[in-house]
Amino acid sequence: MEAKHDVLIVGAGCAGMRAAIEAHDQGADVALISKIHPVRSHSGAAEGGINAALGNASEDDPEKHAFDTVKGSDYLGDQDAIQVLCDEAPGDVYQLEHWGAVFSRTEDGRIAQRPFGAAGEPRTAYAADITGHVLVHVLYEQVMKRDLQVYEEYFAWQLVEHENRCQGVICWDLLNGGLRTIGAKTVILATGGAGRLYSGTTNAYACTGDGMAMALRLGVPLKDMEMMQFHPTTLSPTGVLITEGCRGEGAYLLNSEGDRFLKDYAPNAMELASRDVISRAEQTEIDEGRGVDGNVLLDLRHLGAEKIIERLHGTRELSMVFAGVDPIHDPIPVRPGAHYHMGGVETDLDGKTALEGLYAAGECACVSVHGANRLGGNALMETITFGKRAGRAAADWALSHTTVTVPEAAEADAKRELDELLDRDDGERPYAIRDEMATTMHENFGVFRREDQMRREGKIIAGLTERYERVVVDDKSDVFNNDLTQALELGFLLQLAACMIEAGIARKESRGAHARPHDFPDRDDENFLRHTLVSWRDDRPELSWEPVRMTKWQPQERKY
Ligand SMILES: Cc1cc2nc3c(=O)[nH]c(=O)nc-3n(C[C@H](O)[C@H](O)[C@H](O)COP(=O)(O)OP(=O)(O)OC[C@H]3O[C@@H](n4cnc5c(N)ncnc54)[C@H](O)[C@@H]3O)c2cc1C
Repeated sequence: MEAKHDVLIVGAGCAGMRAAIEAHDQGADVALISKIHPVRSHSGAAEGGINAALGNASEDDPEKHAFDTVKGSDYLGDQDAIQVLCDEAPGDVYQLEHWGAVFSRTEDGRIAQRPFGAAGEPRTAYAADITGHVLVHVLYEQVMKRDLQVYEEYFAWQLVEHENRCQGVICWDLLNGGLRTIGAKTVILATGGAGRLYSGTTNAYACTGDGMAMALRLGVPLKDMEMMQFHPTTLSPTGVLITEGCRGEGAYLLNSEGDRFLKDYAPNAMELASRDVISRAEQTEIDEGRGVDGNVLLDLRHLGAEKIIERLHGTRELSMVFAGVDPIHDPIPVRPGAHYHMGGVETDLDGKTALEGLYAAGECACVSVHGANRLGGNALMETITFGKRAGRAAADWALSHTTVTVPEAAEADAKRELDELLDRDDGERPYAIRDEMATTMHENFGVFRREDQMRREGKIIAGLTERYERVVVDDKSDVFNNDLTQALELGFLLQLAACMIEAGIARKESRGAHARPHDFPDRDDENFLRHTLVSWRDDRPELSWEPVRMTKWQPQERKY
């Protein structure tokens, strides 16, 4: 064992860094592991903002925030978790501000807040359209101020379980090569999302669901894995996100006939309906022949050059660089793309998982505040509030327990497995399997889902998993062997895809991101107001169900 810590955090995005700061401030010895430099974590790509009922733009309070979130989740969110998020959000945002987050301001100097989809009040605090970038830098400054150890460019591959406790992580050292084992009294997974399961996604190459899969392999259940959110405005053809902030500022969505087609789907909320509603509307327009080259158009022109340049500067730049379109003069071609995983490692309100010593927070976790559909601005908030809570709980536990044991056999087994992969000279290259997985997931497990397509995808994934057993890594070297790590990531992704399909087939209703218009077009609260849980047993996903935790909001019809 190389080193040991009280609290070891895998992932250094907003959730991981917020957890690290809190655990340290509780008195624990803390370290972070990240496969990329912390400020390059995908949290930095968040543009639109972070939700807290500060009440700076209207009369708002945590209760309204909670109701919007419950309704937005299509009633699948756990209401106690949502209440925690909304109650703690204002204090947590002011904490970020005091650490130096440069939020955009109102005329009288308070934190500005913009409208976001399905939010009853303008509650999204923002730093122009680079909110995530600002937060990641502020948190990294706090990590540096506390002089926390960061194992940068360490690829976490396996969790160590010993005596029914998680007691460390086995990593591949990207810079120097070789396996490194780091022991810990508690481990917090904060590895982000898994958008790379899909060919059209807003997620970076690093978003491969590693933490979810590592937990799954230790028997920890994943919750609501069928719930992958498709964001309605991703740039064609790259999948780069065009922020919901555009619609918050008043942009229109148009079809090929120049119609604001949302009048037929969400006549009240129009472009500010929730993401699942708009993605389905767009896909329907495209499928029925009213799209423009497989897209619809996001029109900002009426906002005027001054507003676009001041508030949506980054969006303009992305559109010009990646689509050759200047939104001051022309509408932007957009379409739904895989964006956010509402599902993840099941945790309690303090990030604790089913395995002693193992915690999870941020997008890789499912606490669950987003249920079947996440509201824009709530994910960043979740990373901060539940990162903080997981950090505190993990530190508390670590400070009252003393031993860390990593059996030698754990590292020896991992080494044997890795050598077997690296010693293989003949076989298939991983990229072909990865491309096939991502394209077919998009086709068969996308905005709309059909039983026959999901079953077909299940068979495709099973076939790809078999081929994966014979995958060959060409690069045998030690330094920055991305060929190796991408092969390991593919193994994670294939397992997660199998879990998603298992849960998707079982959920015989339409709720939030899981839309089955052909066979089960309606929400079915009688039978499916419950979470899916998937565990890994005998080399395949095994499904069970868990009730939604309700407090005061009974399900109602969602009208926008
Ligand atoms: C383009 C885009 C825009 C968004 N905009 C918004 C927004 O405006 N508002 C909002 O609320 N939400 C937004 N979201 C969602 C939100 O940004 C994310 O859900 C959130 O930032 C995820 O944070 P995280 O800390 O959980 O993970 P990440 O920030 O993705 O961090 C994951 C960390 O885990 C590490 N890691 C992963 N695997 C391993 C491994 N095997 N070994 C070691 N380290 C590993 C990575 O290096 C990284 O440090 C957006 C998402 C996208 C994709």
